[in-house]
Amino acid sequence: MNASELLYQGKAKSAYLTDDPDLLVLKFRDDTSAFDGEIIEHLSQKGAINNQFNAFIMTLLTKAGIQTHFLERLSSTDSLVKRLDMIPVECVVRNKAAGSLVRRLGIEEGYDFKPPLFELFLKNDTLHDPMISEHHVAAFGWASREEMSQMRDLSLQSNTVLRRIFDEVNLELVDFKLEFGRFNGEIVLGDEFSPDGCRLWDKTTGKKMDKDRFREKLGGVLEAYCEVAERLGIVFDR
Ligand code: ADP
Ligand code: UDP
Repeated sequence: MNASELLYQGKAKSAYLTDDPDLLVLKFRDDTSAFDGEIIEHLSQKGAINNQFNAFIMTLLTKAGIQTHFLERLSSTDSLVKRLDMIPVECVVRNKAAGSLVRRLGIEEGYDFKPPLFELFLKNDTLHDPMISEHHVAAFGWASREEMSQMRDLSLQSNTVLRRIFDEVNLELVDFKLEFGRFNGEIVLGDEFSPDGCRLWDKTTGKKMDKDRFREKLGGVLEAYCEVAERLGIVFDR
């Protein structure tokens, strides 16, 4: 499948049109951003690592019965996906307190949520992705009530699957963000799942193994991503 015209360029990926109007090529770039694009750096190999990490996770979710946009990995950095009509809402699931939640509610980092917490944010860098509720989603018409309920269920189902997978390799899935879109009238998981969009802590040492290493300038960002991948048995094609 040939990637042709650039459809849009996000902060970390570029989407290209293909000969088939229903399909896109997503190119995972080495750009890494934090704080809604305020800081952008180039981390060599990050695109290839995230593309292959994402392919592994999306395949796993598909096997678990969750419909995703992922079709096939085309190269180290590119994947073929279904072209979705994206819903501009970020679905976040939290098993433990971290990040913006700690700042917003003054709760201790690491507090355990039972059941897991589900939150929504509007995807809008200029407004710094403000927190919204399901009522905002309905009132602004970003998604119907039925679609919203599917996004919530699919996010929580993904959490059950992924939490177990990471637990098996001694990692705590602290939180993560998913994006959904429509394909032929159905809600489908889009975008990516990689250490750029989740928090993973080593269960023994508490070491952060995700993008917080970049946000907090801890160093060893890609080394941590590679270690997570290695524990999961992902073999990289460079
Ligand atoms: P950002 O939008 O946060 O800068 P990216 O650099 O990851 O992020 O850009 C990828 C863009 O592609 C995002 O806007 C995302 O919503 C969109 N996208 C992801 N998957 C699909 C898909 N299957 N179909 C259409 N758009 C998609
Ligand atoms: N997240 C993301 N993209 C965003 C905002 C958040 O991938 O634009 C992820 C983030 O990596 C974390 C989870 O969603 O795993 C929750 O993020 P949080 O609300 O704590 O915000 P942050 O601390 O990233 O500002």
